[in-house]
Amino acid sequence: AKKENAQEIVNLAERTRAGASRILVFVRLRPMAKKEKEAGSKSCVKIVNKRDVYLTEFSNENDYLRLKRVRGRHFTFDASFPESTNQQEVYCTTTEELVEAVLQGRNGSVFCYGATGAGKTYTMLGTVENPGVMVLAIKDLFNKIRQRSFDGHHEVNLSYLEVYNETVRDLLSPGRPLVLREDKQGILAAGLTQYRAFSTDEVMALLQQGNLNRTTEPTRANETSSRSHAILQVIVEYRTKDALDNVVNRIGKLSLIDLAGSERALATDQRTLRSLEGANINKSLLALSSCINALVEGKKHIPYRNSKLTQLLKDSLGGACNTVMIANICPSSLSFGETQNTLHWADRAKEIRLKACEVSEEMQIPDSETDQAKLLLELQKENR
Ligand code: ADP
Ligand code: MG
Repeated sequence: AKKENAQEIVNLAERTRAGASRILVFVRLRPMAKKEKEAGSKSCVKIVNKRDVYLTEFSNENDYLRLKRVRGRHFTFDASFPESTNQQEVYCTTTEELVEAVLQGRNGSVFCYGATGAGKTYTMLGTVENPGVMVLAIKDLFNKIRQRSFDGHHEVNLSYLEVYNETVRDLLSPGRPLVLREDKQGILAAGLTQYRAFSTDEVMALLQQGNLNRTTEPTRANETSSRSHAILQVIVEYRTKDALDNVVNRIGKLSLIDLAGSERALATDQRTLRSLEGANINKSLLALSSCINALVEGKKHIPYRNSKLTQLLKDSLGGACNTVMIANICPSSLSFGETQNTLHWADRAKEIRLKACEVSEEMQIPDSETDQAKLLLELQKENR
């Protein structure tokens, strides 16, 4: 019995380790816009081998290799997507695995991070001709459900909401701000629309309409700058009966998040309402970073309460959740500073993942499992 118990605990430790090392970081470079070309901007980013990103302040294509040695502006990610990468490729590399996991009743989340205009919304929502991750994920979800229709019943529900200036709004049914409530299941936005989805065709129109409801404000640095975070929640409920006619029920939730522009509020206009909003956005982004940090380090206290965004994502970050980050960047030398910031942030997120592996190697797994970890170490000593 003791041996069996040990086996169980080993599996638990392995799962914990796998879960903790699952934060994957990707970078997507968008093509140069016509406007940028007309403004005489040059490309300052080069992606090599689908992994390596070279950032240079020079326009000469041949300079990037020399710069790597001289200035060290070279980054490596789990994958880096050059300008030519299509939406399907981005979806398959970053999100497909999470859709599979959600069908197994686990949670997952995908974040797009980057400055305004870097391609976050294009990556997440896309266009009718080139639908993005949100639409491709739902399409794939329906395909996968069809393939296993013999095996129980699946129901797909969508919610689409925004966090703007620390206020939560329903993008599918605009109106008064939503109040966040905590109950046994977690934190819920009271009265949030749950749209029962049956096919992909309707979803694109629904999400595009929802996106039009997002709050956008003119700023000095950008004509229109989205300072809102948009969150699509895809909830998959699975029901079947086992051999003994008992009802089996499992729920998985996939959160797809188009974060607000990461540019510093101070870069636009310091002491105005805008900078207040900027402070709130930074508050949400900062809170997100500290939660992820705390989670992968196995900290006892995860500061979810620090922002509306992290409160909403509580059940999509911790536990049996898989997390993916996509950092969006643009090639123009005019955006050099923002691109550098985004790459630094993404690089740090990547280091958190590596740190998580080290931590779990030392068996410092989260609090609720510490007793079992101690027991495991004792059993290992006994078996030696
Ligand atoms: P963000 O949401 O980060 O502010 P957008 O997604 O709105 O940025 O992108 C800014 C502009 O660039 C849009 O006109 C968008 O269509 C275009 N764009 C972004 N990424 C790509 C891409 N990979 N391929 C083609 N056009 C893109
Ligand atoms: Mg956008």
